[in-house]
Amino acid sequence: MFPTGEGSIRLFRVGGIQVYLHWSWFLVAVFELTTRREVYGSLAWNAAEYLALFGIVLLHEFGHALACRSVGGRAEQIVLWPLGGVAYVQPPERPGAVLWSIAAGPLVNVVLFTVLTAWSVFVWPDLESVPREWWLFWRSLWIINVVLLVFNLLPIYPLDGGQILRALLWFALGRARSLQVAAGIGLVGTALLALGAIWLRSVWAGLVVAFIGLNCWAGWKHARWLMQMERENAWLRVETSRD
Ligand SMILES: [Zn+2]
Repeated sequence: MFPTGEGSIRLFRVGGIQVYLHWSWFLVAVFELTTRREVYGSLAWNAAEYLALFGIVLLHEFGHALACRSVGGRAEQIVLWPLGGVAYVQPPERPGAVLWSIAAGPLVNVVLFTVLTAWSVFVWPDLESVPREWWLFWRSLWIINVVLLVFNLLPIYPLDGGQILRALLWFALGRARSLQVAAGIGLVGTALLALGAIWLRSVWAGLVVAFIGLNCWAGWKHARWLMQMERENAWLRVETSRD
């Protein structure tokens, strides 16, 4: 239930990681150019804002991919699509490795938050002297980054927050049970998000929630499968120890 390199444009390759842009990102461009037109005096600023959103999402995904590689995992693909980006990471099956691969994404946004905030404090202490459009652009970057950080940290599997929770639970509960608990919490969270989307009457929010819910449900089913495998393995061990 994630976009793949198929139907996507091959953008560039850095450090063995291929970056794809899904065609639907052009919908974001249309949104940017039509609904945000009034904010800036020229279209160039809208284009810059679009690229900045793209850049922030990409840096976040590179955080995941590089962290995954640093612990010996595989990460070769990043796909950007309108619901954000997806870094295809396969960290080793250890809770510490999974935790680092997931946490590194939001950590990039924490670093960006510090840099952007410090910029306004130290470089632009006197806002009156800053050209209006530069200031609006900085404000957009700050808001985009904070929204991405907070949204990604919601403890709803498979959002980063839900996956961090799962990795933490893994230390105590094991691989299968931790996924089941995190996906269970995620399903409750998805239901709450769905109520929020209905309240907002937003089709866009509804699509995001549906996407999260489907992947959370897949996580729940995977957890049940893992638990069944563990039971069968335990049974096999008992059988072989009897022989
Ligand atoms: Zn992430």
